[in-house]
Amino acid sequence: MQERRDKVRARLGELGADALLVTKPVNVRYLTGFSGSNGQLVVGTEDVFLTDGRYEEQSAKECPDLRREIYRTSAGQIGEGAGMYGLLSSVVSGLGVTRPAVEAGHVTLATARALREKLSGVELVEADGEIETLRRVKDTDEVGRIRRACEIADRALADLLPQLAEGMTEVEVAAVLEHAMRNHGSEGLSFDTIAAFGEQAAEPHHHPTERRLRRGDMIKLDFGAIAGGYHSDMTRTIAFGEPADQMSSIYTLVQGAQQAGLDAVKPGATTGDVDAASRGYLTERGYDFSHGTGHGLGLEIHEAPPVRAGSIDVLIPGMVITVEPGIYLPGVGGVRIEDSVVVRDGGCDILTGSTKELVIV
Ligand code: ZN
Ligand code: ZN
Repeated sequence: MQERRDKVRARLGELGADALLVTKPVNVRYLTGFSGSNGQLVVGTEDVFLTDGRYEEQSAKECPDLRREIYRTSAGQIGEGAGMYGLLSSVVSGLGVTRPAVEAGHVTLATARALREKLSGVELVEADGEIETLRRVKDTDEVGRIRRACEIADRALADLLPQLAEGMTEVEVAAVLEHAMRNHGSEGLSFDTIAAFGEQAAEPHHHPTERRLRRGDMIKLDFGAIAGGYHSDMTRTIAFGEPADQMSSIYTLVQGAQQAGLDAVKPGATTGDVDAASRGYLTERGYDFSHGTGHGLGLEIHEAPPVRAGSIDVLIPGMVITVEPGIYLPGVGGVRIEDSVVVRDGGCDILTGSTKELVIV
């Protein structure tokens, strides 16, 4: 964590700031290890962590090496309440800060106004995506956490398959998966689980309904677990009973497109190259899809770099991205296959281990 904060400190000169006030919770977590819902970090000549009374003990455990300042919030002032501004003001003036940078992508107009009022004699500097840029390349510990989250999701899918039965609803299937992830140690859900049967899978981001499972349906499942704060993301499309010929041939196409995308993941390639590989495979065969081919993931389910048409982000070993092309046929059905992968010298390691051969239950 100290090393990460030093990297931020080294950026201050370029930003024209003498401190960075970090307020976005996942960025605070990245730089301190603090996993609570409310905390702020000042990276200046010294690093100072601020939180409210609820987190006094937790922060002492999670970031014992940091200078910690605790403010009291009265009822109705949870979070960035009045107590925070008073304490922050004295911390900032104690450090001699006159040009604090704030996270422009996270600070609201109301917060900016309050900062200008309460921190007298300072000029706010806008910083955008500083921590997000650092977070793109994961260290060994972070990759280990994502790998654990992926393994939890793999086990949950294995638990679900023998439980699938005619008449189950999408909501029930999603609930079984979610419960299984919890059982295998997930700290929560990466995002709302997608369980889509038959024609419902034509919607890329379908919300589970009371639609009941019938023989011959393909089932699209997109879900993720959380381990050590890090997310996994995987989509598998399986067949409940023998699928229609059209659906199994679409499955084969998506499998080919997904493999083409994976083959394009290597250091030095851009994420746009990965998108072009997957998408090009399908457009050559008369299909396309309306979403990006993937995204970075880590402390957030969607983070830098995006993997979409024209993206110029260059892949670096340690980046973790998804590759998830699909084909969606309104009124008929949809297939998507998604892996989470880490960029390695010469290629990538696939972190999601469930088979991509068409599983027929
Ligand atoms: Zn997904
Ligand atoms: Zn995804």
